[in-house]
Amino acid sequence: MTPEPLWRVSAYDGQPHGFYELGPDFSQALCSHSVPTSRLRDEAGETRCIACLLVFGDDLAVAKGDPGGWRD
Ligand SMILES: [Zn+2]
Repeated sequence: MTPEPLWRVSAYDGQPHGFYELGPDFSQALCSHSVPTSRLRDEAGETRCIACLLVFGDDLAVAKGDPGGWRD
């Protein structure tokens, strides 16, 4: 199962990154961006980190199987 990641804005680059879990001290985003958990704030509508979105998309494809074809 692939949970929807938590999206939190990093104080370092101002972008929302995806996190599957927040650590007590440091948290590591899907894209490997590592931030002290205290330097994260709630997402406020900025454009999400592309690298995190790509990693999350890959995880979804693995978890659900690639549907292929993209037809409806
Ligand atoms: Zn990221």
